[in-house]
Amino acid sequence: MDTSTEGAAQAHSGGTAGTRTDPSVMAEPTTATAATAVATEPVVIPPTSLSPSRAGDFMQCPLLYRFRVIDRLPEKPSEAATRGTLVHAVLERLFDAPAQERTAPRAKSLISGQWQRLRQSRPEVEELFADDPDGERLARWLGEAEQLVERWFTLEDPSRLEPAERELFVEAELESGLRLRGIIDRVDVAPTGEVRIVDYKTGKAPRPEYAEDALFQMKFYALVVWRLKKVVPRRLQLVYLGSGDVLTYDPVLADLERVERKLLALWEAIRRATETGDWRPRPTKLCGWCDHQAVCPEFGGTPPPYPLPVRGVGSGDSEQGRMGPD
Ligand code: SF4
Repeated sequence: MDTSTEGAAQAHSGGTAGTRTDPSVMAEPTTATAATAVATEPVVIPPTSLSPSRAGDFMQCPLLYRFRVIDRLPEKPSEAATRGTLVHAVLERLFDAPAQERTAPRAKSLISGQWQRLRQSRPEVEELFADDPDGERLARWLGEAEQLVERWFTLEDPSRLEPAERELFVEAELESGLRLRGIIDRVDVAPTGEVRIVDYKTGKAPRPEYAEDALFQMKFYALVVWRLKKVVPRRLQLVYLGSGDVLTYDPVLADLERVERKLLALWEAIRRATETGDWRPRPTKLCGWCDHQAVCPEFGGTPPPYPLPVRGVGSGDSEQGRMGPD
């Protein structure tokens, strides 16, 4: 999942759904001292994996990808993304209960406990309400989470669902060596064997002209499932708790092949940028959600030194830098 669909916050909450640990960061390009190499200068190991969130970052703005994946600059927790994480946790845990007990009151009663768990596992979320001594803002925020949970019951009936998987980590390697990773919110499998992939979004459904972008993440997951199980999922389903909409798409093999080609092209572009250090900023209105304006040239900032001597694009000048293994 990417909990990340609080409107424009989508591309910034990482996986979507937000603030869960994004599997993509586990094997993305890293800087290291090349102990086995003759030189001791830092090297950047080109990317070996992609998640929907990080792929989305690069498509949105290559410099944002660099800040997040290579520089690993810290980002402040946001109320929207943290609420997404909380709501996802509640929906997931509700399926622990027997079917007939999966009611809205029961789900809402889980919010407080899941919020406490989140505070323990990610103490940085405390800063969200550090300036809220009387707890007013926190109460409002928890109330909003409650509304999102409640709305889910108008869109799906969990008493009639028996998910095959929840919060499923998936990873598949393509022939090219690129690994695709992600976390799927819910997988339903019909008695006939047909697979439905479901993702919850705590934001609003996109306008129709942006539906394709929203489906990219789902097709990414479908591609991974196809690669792992040799089954094309029957349905992809996005459940928008913010607006009360459900967006579905029934993919065919050609869709997944198209997504695979797109990801390979993206991967190649990321490898090229890693090698050249040419991470271009791409300003859009989403910059308003970016935590890194202070170091972005588009806003008068200077990025941190790139961990590699940068080679001029197309110069082929090998003495200006060395890379980790391809
Ligand atoms: S502020 Fe905009 S252009 Fe700069 S890194 Fe962030 S998203 Fe990219």
